[in-house]
Amino acid sequence: MTIAVYPGTFDPITNGHSDIVARAAILFDKVIVAVAASPGKGPMFSIEQRVALAKEALADIKNAEICQFDNLLVDFASQHDATVILRGLRAVSDFEYEFQLAGINRRLAPDVETLFLRPAEQYAYISSSLVREVAGLGGDVSEFIHPVVQAALKCRNS
Ligand code: ADP
Repeated sequence: MTIAVYPGTFDPITNGHSDIVARAAILFDKVIVAVAASPGKGPMFSIEQRVALAKEALADIKNAEICQFDNLLVDFASQHDATVILRGLRAVSDFEYEFQLAGINRRLAPDVETLFLRPAEQYAYISSSLVREVAGLGGDVSEFIHPVVQAALKCRNS
């Protein structure tokens, strides 16, 4: 059984994230979406909310499991028997950070491979932070997020 872990802040989950999970779900027996506590990023949504939103947005993907984590990613991966760390690559601007992250994770856990997936073109320009910003200013972000995420953002912004 091949298990991949897809870590991130998911503040909140977007259709770009979901697209990556859907693609990975075809390639792996199980995809664990690992929602990082990330207190240093001062997330808009609590870890419990981010996990709940991800569970709803990904409910149709039967081999996706959503967990929270606040320990070292490679330790989390090994605790869950995951041999692959998945990350999404949107543009060249993602590359440097992702390259560093993959490098340190390889030093820490040489047996775990980092794999990058590209989202569908229509999601290649969106990020959680842009969605938060546009929604906060009253813009329509419905094509980029699941309706439950839209409702949660509306609630936060009202
Ligand atoms: P992090 O704080 O770890 O960057 P994010 O939730 O912002 O957490 O992103 C998690 C992963 O998903 C990262 O690899 C990021 O590049 C990727 N990602 C974010 N938005 C998209 C998107 N629209 N399409 C594809 N991948 C994305």
